[in-house]
Amino acid sequence: MSTDYDIVIAGGGPAGSTAAAYLAKAGLSVALFESESFPREHVGESLVPATTRVMTETGVMEKIDRAGFPKKYGAAWTSKETRNIVTNDFSKIAHEFGAAEIQFSERDQPGVTRDFTYHVDRGKFDKILLEHAEELGAKVTQNTRVRNVDFDDPDQVTVTCRNESGEFDVTARMFVDASGRQTMLGRQLRVKVPDPVFDQYAIHSWFEGLDRKAMTSNPEKIDYIYVHFLPINDTWVWQIPITDTITSVGVVTQKHRFVEANTDRDKFFWDFIDTRPELAEQLRKAEQVRPFKVEADYSYAMKQICGDRFVMIGDAARFVDPIFSSGVSVALTSAKFASQDIVAAFEADDFSRAMFSSYEKRLRNGVRNWYEFISVYYRLNVLFTAFVQDPKHRLDVVRLLQGDLYDDEEPEVLRVMRETVQAVENDPTHLWHPYLGSLRAPTAAPAF
Ligand SMILES: Cc1cc2nc3c(=O)[nH]c(=O)nc-3n(C[C@H](O)[C@H](O)[C@H](O)COP(=O)(O)OP(=O)(O)OC[C@H]3O[C@@H](n4cnc5c(N)ncnc54)[C@H](O)[C@@H]3O)c2cc1C
Repeated sequence: MSTDYDIVIAGGGPAGSTAAAYLAKAGLSVALFESESFPREHVGESLVPATTRVMTETGVMEKIDRAGFPKKYGAAWTSKETRNIVTNDFSKIAHEFGAAEIQFSERDQPGVTRDFTYHVDRGKFDKILLEHAEELGAKVTQNTRVRNVDFDDPDQVTVTCRNESGEFDVTARMFVDASGRQTMLGRQLRVKVPDPVFDQYAIHSWFEGLDRKAMTSNPEKIDYIYVHFLPINDTWVWQIPITDTITSVGVVTQKHRFVEANTDRDKFFWDFIDTRPELAEQLRKAEQVRPFKVEADYSYAMKQICGDRFVMIGDAARFVDPIFSSGVSVALTSAKFASQDIVAAFEADDFSRAMFSSYEKRLRNGVRNWYEFISVYYRLNVLFTAFVQDPKHRLDVVRLLQGDLYDDEEPEVLRVMRETVQAVENDPTHLWHPYLGSLRAPTAAPAF
């Protein structure tokens, strides 16, 4: 049966444009519909080095290199309370409570020949990726929203789109949902499930002139991502360089705190920032150059991420908390894995769900590992910083922070971390017991 296209993709963020690039490179005809007009603003500005692999494969890496984004060589965590603790479990390891830092150069990453990644202005970054997909042959249409996908015909999908001229249908052999947190297909199929534990809320903006040197003891590390813990349970601030002078700053906390505060966004943001006076002092000297933006209710899973003639990728498939800057990496990696299965489906002329099982398994693995890592972190963040400072575990943690966690069922370090959390939970006399966070994530991540 002849269709308008081989594949229709909804959404031109990093997931959609990367899938479009892989599939167009494989010689398939791809139509991508994006509801907005690029460049458009987007949260999620700090990358992990695993993204380099995918962007090198699609051929967009050189364009990203030329765009002048700040290089990211590492990550640092700071805390108000810095004091030394010597524990039984990590005898003789004194660590600065709640503070840590890592450099990507500490671990050689297979397939990645550089020791940095980037912080990106997502308006520019996403546009480069989308235009690259178009250059490779994908037909990209902006200002056009995918409204519905009809799977009734066993031989094709019919995708209904809307733009300012009205509604129209296109047919394809396959549909890829890359609509991000709007989860177009997940909503249509009613397979979206809110996360049982994480109910986060983020408020963020860009600031001109924040003195990033004043926020670090080592001037060579001013362009790291900084995660500043606030002295409020489960609450932290990101500091991400966007240009030499512009810094993205966001507060992440539990949503109920915003509801309970019953105040406006500006006051809520500054009240939280004021709990770290040294940060507040520097930030108040800088100029806010964008209005505050809020992201809420953003952790969820899907009961199903692929089926006959469809796959969901990136945030359209799953969203976990952004504490480790994992989102764009998940978007790119899921696009890569899904594209491999889609190409195989075209070769076999078989678009049944089973053809996408390799994608499903690898994505589940990766996202489960991210979820476990994040859960342990929120439950006992002193454990995370201790592991970073423990030579026995440091490189394994760096590996996770580089984004290399799709191939193992469960990396060894995650198992040890989880067991340590359980030991601390079960022992009220443990030195770390008072530092247990309030978010009690399940010991295993919920299934899709
Ligand atoms: C508070 C917060 C902080 C974050 N920080 C980071 C970070 O530091 N690093 C990181 O890597 N990630 C971070 N993320 C995650 C990151 O933003 C996402 O994981 C990433 O953008 C996912 O890419 P995507 O392509 O799946 O979706 P998106 O980037 O959201 O792209 C989806 C696209 O689909 C379009 N669209 C939606 N519906 C339709 C439709 N029906 N039809 C057509 N088009 C449609 C949208 O306009 C959008 O352009 C953060 C997220 C949050 C909430």
